[in-house]
Amino acid sequence: MGANRELKRLVENFWSGKVDENALLSGSKKLREEHWLLQKKAGLDQIPSNDFSLYDQVVDHSYAFGVIPARYKNLNPGLETYFAMCRGLQKADIDVPACEMKKWFDTNYHYIVPEFEPNQQFALNPTKILDEYNEAVAIGIQTRPVILGPISYLLLGKPARGAPQGFEPIQLLSKILPLYEELLSQLAGVGATWIQIDEPFLVTDLPSDLKKDYSSAYNALTKVSPQIKILIATYFERIGSNIDFIVDTPISALHIDLVRAPDQLESILKRIPSTVSLSLGLINGRNIWKVNMEAALAEAQKAISCLGAQRVFIAPSCSLLHTPHSLQAEKNIDSEILDWLAFATEKIKEIVNISKVLNDGAQYVQTDLDANRKSIQDRKTSPRIHNSVVQEKMKTLTPDMFKRKDPFRERQLKQRQKLGLPAFPTTTVGSFPQTKEVRAVRAKLKKGEINQAQYDDFIKKEIEKCIRFQEEIGMDVLVHGEFERNDMVEFFGENLQGYVFSGNGWVQSYGSRCIKPPIIFGDVFRPKPMTVEVIKYAQSLTKKPLKGMLTGPVTMLQWSFVRDDQPRKDTTFQLALAIREEVRDLEAAGISVIQIDEPAIREGLPLRKEDWNEYLNWAVDAFLLSSTGVDSSTQIHTHMCYSDFNDIIESIQRMDADVITIENSRSDLKLLHAFEKHEYTNEIGPGLYDIHSPRVPSKEELETRLQEILKYISKDLTWVNPDCGLKTRGWPEVEAALKNLTDVAKGFRTIE
Ligand code: GLN
Ligand code: ZN
Repeated sequence: MGANRELKRLVENFWSGKVDENALLSGSKKLREEHWLLQKKAGLDQIPSNDFSLYDQVVDHSYAFGVIPARYKNLNPGLETYFAMCRGLQKADIDVPACEMKKWFDTNYHYIVPEFEPNQQFALNPTKILDEYNEAVAIGIQTRPVILGPISYLLLGKPARGAPQGFEPIQLLSKILPLYEELLSQLAGVGATWIQIDEPFLVTDLPSDLKKDYSSAYNALTKVSPQIKILIATYFERIGSNIDFIVDTPISALHIDLVRAPDQLESILKRIPSTVSLSLGLINGRNIWKVNMEAALAEAQKAISCLGAQRVFIAPSCSLLHTPHSLQAEKNIDSEILDWLAFATEKIKEIVNISKVLNDGAQYVQTDLDANRKSIQDRKTSPRIHNSVVQEKMKTLTPDMFKRKDPFRERQLKQRQKLGLPAFPTTTVGSFPQTKEVRAVRAKLKKGEINQAQYDDFIKKEIEKCIRFQEEIGMDVLVHGEFERNDMVEFFGENLQGYVFSGNGWVQSYGSRCIKPPIIFGDVFRPKPMTVEVIKYAQSLTKKPLKGMLTGPVTMLQWSFVRDDQPRKDTTFQLALAIREEVRDLEAAGISVIQIDEPAIREGLPLRKEDWNEYLNWAVDAFLLSSTGVDSSTQIHTHMCYSDFNDIIESIQRMDADVITIENSRSDLKLLHAFEKHEYTNEIGPGLYDIHSPRVPSKEELETRLQEILKYISKDLTWVNPDCGLKTRGWPEVEAALKNLTDVAKGFRTIE
């Protein structure tokens, strides 16, 4: 995105018409050149190209292979079509939605899902790939073009709407291969030698019949030109037995992720053919910690002693897209912690230094090596990381801290007595509109233009408005609206010890959207209650039950950069303990309904199915640890955004939340099958309408929806609510939609 998210500005200015196409293209060319030169200056031997994208590399690839769904076919070719696929297009008489977006493996990056027709016609348009190669040559750099491999590309896609049952995109392999061959031959034509072909699916569970696809694909591609050397790149997990798929194809190099899967080195060294070089992913491309130089050097030596130095490459574990640009912009992280970190630019230096030691000897980078040893040592022993109170608490966890006092049915009775809720109780998922005004006032507080008391006053008024509105429309379980929160993870991170926040640590999430994940560097400790005052205030305004609102431990973990010096499980349990204390304080303050959001549980699932159980065990345990410290009459809610629950429903049941609200409005009720089929026993609030659009759902629509839902879930378990938080919406549509929603619920109560 550029050191200061230049690409974001450029692209957004183009979308809003502030700059024209020429400015967009020349601006992005300049950015590419800067990045190539930065890598060259650092001393990197092989520098990638075609890793730049105006939106997403997968959609670039679709564009390059003519995989453009029919609904975009009559738009102007070029950027209009390209951006319409990315974000839809509404103009004059045109109204096309965007393509589907999905998470890229287990990252927080989203790619545009390709759509394939059974009779898909491919058409090669290699301009971008060739132009970028030539651009780099023009500034004296011979790059290694990166392209998405044919198998992974097809596996990332989905059948176009209306494709017959049984059609799978992978069936198009023989049809797409000639275009890859053509592309490689054109790359050879402009002088490319090394070409990186990404096959990330090699680290996932694959059916064994894909072996023949991999070998036919790479046998064909390696034949294109004697000048071309193919490096297959894998990342995010171990290759495992999929190594069989590629060992008898004459590729020139294989890249493996040794950060996620360090144990695979040995077995791969045994299996790798003598003609293949090994690229060691030693520098963590998914996290922000400095590498331990000595440990990385030792790994590299293992490979060298087996393969010889000529056949060993040093590399980051994966693309550096997943780490922020550079530490140079960090002015506010204190110097002790800053010394433990490496962002993308610093990681390149680490790669080069490892290579220098191996080639020329340690003496050439002795100062850097000494500094690295000291940083690693300091981080290990820093009192900032270790908190003895937390350590003690972690040692005294007992089995009863992971379960509620009574089974669900008994709790349900007690909660009904205490809360006195009607049938089809109504609630929302938490946030209300974060208006421009709310954000402006928060910005003023940050800049010191107003003081804390003035800010608190403003927030209180917003809460009061929000409560009055919910009372007016007859909502049953009220929320305070989350006006005081910038973000559901950042807010809690800022209130906990063990977290630090970068000023400029942006990472692309999708398109021009970036996120700035908090950094968990040490033991997580809650110095004082985080939400109790605000929630107590909100409850004091109403006689209706007010729902306390917290972010769950797994989501706190998943959406942060996490320390790598202890298992993720331990960090999650520390987070869970902090939340558990908050939950108990809320209960003690008279709050009887508490929601602990866990939208990220499903996305934390490992890429290999055999690793699922281990993860689900501790992830659910963490939720239980955070949520079970309360009386049976206190109602625990959880919320999950859109997730496929079918294969994890037992774990969702084991979370034992009294009420779960889920996002299901975009999935044609498919999700509810899971709850029905598995006879899920607790209460459920399947989102009645999609909050991602400003459309106001009519009462009829909501009624039909609720009727549909009741085919799957029994009446006495059903809650009525929107499908996610309302913070991105405006007040007028929220008012209208929620009024319809509560009216519909009231209507259903009178029909028996
Ligand atoms: N309570 C949060 C909100 O309403 C939940 C957000 C989410 O599900 N991602 O904003
Ligand atoms: Zn949600």
